[in-house]
Amino acid sequence: MTRPRLGFFKFSCCAGCEFQTFYFQKHPAETLAAFEIVFAKMVLRGGAPEGPFDLALVEGTITEAWQADELKKIRKSSALLFAIGACAVNGGIPALKALAPELEVEGKVYKNLSPIHSIRPHPVDAYIQVDGYIRGCPPGERDLHEALTSVLAQKKPGFLRCAVCVECKLKGNICILTAYGMPCMGPVTNAGCDALCPTCKRPCYSCFGLMKQANAPALAKKFRSLGLSESDIRRKFTLFDADAALFSKADKLNED
Ligand code: SF4
Ligand code: SF4
Ligand code: SF4
Repeated sequence: MTRPRLGFFKFSCCAGCEFQTFYFQKHPAETLAAFEIVFAKMVLRGGAPEGPFDLALVEGTITEAWQADELKKIRKSSALLFAIGACAVNGGIPALKALAPELEVEGKVYKNLSPIHSIRPHPVDAYIQVDGYIRGCPPGERDLHEALTSVLAQKKPGFLRCAVCVECKLKGNICILTAYGMPCMGPVTNAGCDALCPTCKRPCYSCFGLMKQANAPALAKKFRSLGLSESDIRRKFTLFDADAALFSKADKLNED
């Protein structure tokens, strides 16, 4: 049986998702043995970026025009394409620069801005259609394993469609939001991490991204009652979702 051809592509990001995929998780690493790694800069010298690929995993935010062109080429040469990690799925940390005026962030880093050709940052689905979202910063073992095995089994990946709170309750955790007044983003955040942070008594900071149907105003109201300022609340809701499409959600925090 021929092994599915896998390409791993990186745009603007820390490359932590590629690290996580190839080195840090036992089951995905075992599952990867069933793939032919055709292109992945971290594990393969050279490689064939032109494909074709049965599966492309794409990490990183699109922050320059050439990246959008490259991404479209990858899409054309890939039967399946999954966005992997908060940067690719929601914009993530690189998209935070969209919260500041154009080139302000770049100006804090570079003296000479003339070689900088950055564009407004966007997740990959602003430019192409994707077949799945492997969420998180970085993704957890569950979703990585689910994504890879779904390709091998030729079925749709079964990602969770609920909030972190559901996983948190299933683990029998005491709620740190209601019991200790800690500003946890679990009620509005996509599940998939097995409630990693609240299980360690740390508030979720929403690295799996805001749920589409999340009741953001209700949680913002709760945060206000805990004494958080409006700017702190806005920061919590935009940390991983600063992309333009999600601004509207953060802007509606006062709606109820
Ligand atoms: S999602 Fe997080 S771990 Fe993955 S590339 Fe972006 S910043 Fe790095
Ligand atoms: S601790 Fe956070 S994730 Fe867990 S139930 Fe409470 S609000 Fe939800
Ligand atoms: S609990 Fe929240 S911040 Fe922590 S890993 Fe899960 S989604 Fe990310």
